[in-house]
Amino acid sequence: MFDFDNTLVDFHKASLLAFGQTFEDFNLKLQPEYYSIYEKINGKIWNDFEQKLITTVDIRKSRFKLLFERLNIESVDGFEFNAKYLSNLVKHTTVRPEVINMLTKLKAHFKMSIITNGLKEVQRPRLDKCLMTHLFDSIIVSDEIGAAKPDLAFFDVAIKSIPNTIKKDKILVIGDSLKSDIAGGINYGLKTCLIDPYDSFLLVNADIVVQDVLELEQLLLDVYQPIDCGFYDYLEIYCMRKTTVKIDFTEISNQASVITKIENLFTKNKVEFAKLANGTTIRLDIIRELSPISDREQYI
Ligand SMILES: [Mg+2]
Repeated sequence: MFDFDNTLVDFHKASLLAFGQTFEDFNLKLQPEYYSIYEKINGKIWNDFEQKLITTVDIRKSRFKLLFERLNIESVDGFEFNAKYLSNLVKHTTVRPEVINMLTKLKAHFKMSIITNGLKEVQRPRLDKCLMTHLFDSIIVSDEIGAAKPDLAFFDVAIKSIPNTIKKDKILVIGDSLKSDIAGGINYGLKTCLIDPYDSFLLVNADIVVQDVLELEQLLLDVYQPIDCGFYDYLEIYCMRKTTVKIDFTEISNQASVITKIENLFTKNKVEFAKLANGTTIRLDIIRELSPISDREQYI
């Protein structure tokens, strides 16, 4: 589960460019210190929102109103400025081609979601602009569901958007925010990966810390050994339901099959196995066919 801003795309850069362009659009002279003043105001407002003190409507209405009050600029309507800033933010949102390449490779092995806190009128067009939504199995935007990270309610919706056979400890939340991504993921019992470009955090309880999301390509394909077995979801279900199954498999170019129940699925030396009720184990990548057998059928 990928966070979007400052995880997959450079929000700081897009926001700074959009901020400058909106000043130009309103024929206002931009001073170098304005953006950092805005960042402080915006940060406080999003903080208030996360603590449920204000709504997203308040964010839209007040952040630039407060900025212009602070700058003693009276000629501009903060709400209108906000709308223009958001449309400029869409224009300036870009994703590095290397990120798309990585996601394309990961898609072959993992279910992937985007989990993002943001305003719906801007997050969807920004996601579309990056031409990568087809790579994701689900996209959750906080403003659309009325709950934001790190709330459990947000993660409830996010988890329900992926197959329910995926165990929590097989789900990795990847994001740059200690509060919304990492704490949110940990509270929900998920694995976490912090994107920390400047090594800014000393005490981090995330499972993985990387400087750039691109490092995940090797790391995920190594640490989180992908399951090459297309039957994994079914194996889990049959294991849980104690269903008798016929497993056809290939071993040293010989075809074989076994009828048994699945007791457990486990990983050893980064290879996935199923422990079978007949006392043997089988490597998941040699399974060719898996079919459930009704109680009556197995005695025929
Ligand atoms: Mg982020």
